[in-house]
Amino acid sequence: MAESRAGKRRPEFTPGGNGSLGSPVAERIAWAESCYREAGARLSADPAVADLLARFRAAAEAPRRRMLESGVADCCSECGLREGGSCCGRGIEDRYSGLLLLINRLLGRPLPGERLDPAGCFFLGRTGCLLSARHVICINYLCAKITHRIDPERLTPLRESEGEEIGTLFLLEERVRKVLRC
Ligand code: SF4
Ligand code: SF4
Repeated sequence: MAESRAGKRRPEFTPGGNGSLGSPVAERIAWAESCYREAGARLSADPAVADLLARFRAAAEAPRRRMLESGVADCCSECGLREGGSCCGRGIEDRYSGLLLLINRLLGRPLPGERLDPAGCFFLGRTGCLLSARHVICINYLCAKITHRIDPERLTPLRESEGEEIGTLFLLEERVRKVLRC
């Protein structure tokens, strides 16, 4: 009995294989593209997914605004201009599952075909990150330069809005997983 129920509930897209963490980034991207081709329209038509995509877009806007208001954006541009620095180093792309990459496709983001900077993250473009839905370590990372220079109170609104972005993304991932049964 349990076996036959399990048979009916077979995952549509297996969580292992090319979409899983641990597989090469090119395979995770190919998995996301293939899911997007096969199930993108159905996912976007799901009312809960559509609602969460809209909520995520709004939730991801606030931290960007608050980075400007708090002075974090200035620190980062100065770091990029004067120190050639970016904290988007090679290897961070390995935190991104196929599912998170699929969510970027649902948000209308194309995925890159190659790495631009040999020392940088695979998703680092010429003017910054190419993704809309980012891993939690990308959303809330602030280096010591920033935490020393900017008062904690000025960072509080940014932290709060990042929490909202992370929470909404979690719900979105869960819903997409449920629709795909993976
Ligand atoms: S977080 Fe720090 S290391 Fe990263 S870009 Fe901004 S200032 Fe530079
Ligand atoms: S913010 Fe974007 S480019 Fe930077 S490490 Fe994260 S995924 Fe890579």
